[in-house]
Amino acid sequence: MLYFYYGVMGSSKTAQLLMQRYNYQQLGLKVALVKPEVDTRAGVRMVYSRVGLKAEAEIVVGPTHSIREQPLWLAAQNAHSSYQYVFIDEAQFLTDLQVEELAELSDYLDIFCYGLKTDFRGQFFPGSAALLRLAEIIEEVPGGLCWCGKKATMNTRVDAQGSVIKEGQQVLIDDNSVIKYIGLCYEHWRKGISHA
Ligand SMILES: [Zn+2]
Repeated sequence: MLYFYYGVMGSSKTAQLLMQRYNYQQLGLKVALVKPEVDTRAGVRMVYSRVGLKAEAEIVVGPTHSIREQPLWLAAQNAHSSYQYVFIDEAQFLTDLQVEELAELSDYLDIFCYGLKTDFRGQFFPGSAALLRLAEIIEEVPGGLCWCGKKATMNTRVDAQGSVIKEGQQVLIDDNSVIKYIGLCYEHWRKGISHA
């Protein structure tokens, strides 16, 4: 089964992922942690949550990698599979083709994808668009809040001064000095107001 848990910036998606992974590990189940290569904030293999939880990914998927060709997936094809469950962080960065491969592999595996639904312009990421098409279970990770106290639904790119940026390339990883990402409610995202 293919799952997509989407949430806005600041909704603790990665923390949820790591806690759920821990729950499976506690039961002695074999879990693989996967991340796309594009997210390098905390090191190539590190999956890192803002609340402080972190873990090392077993597999780092590049944009041109076939998911099927990863050792994990090869293992999953045989009867003595070493992995039973797969958790994917920042799944919005997967390609359309990779999500289609995941959907196929989810015949044998439970695959839990966590990621953003839309980018800072309010447009789908390729990975999230494909997951919304193909995932069998789609749920929101709640908890993200706008500064006004309303539910945050929109991912917002802001500069060092906190001004909202509405144009630019889709993928620009935050380094917390030049730009960063916050969640805003729809009204404050649309009006470009990032603080009180
Ligand atoms: Zn607001």
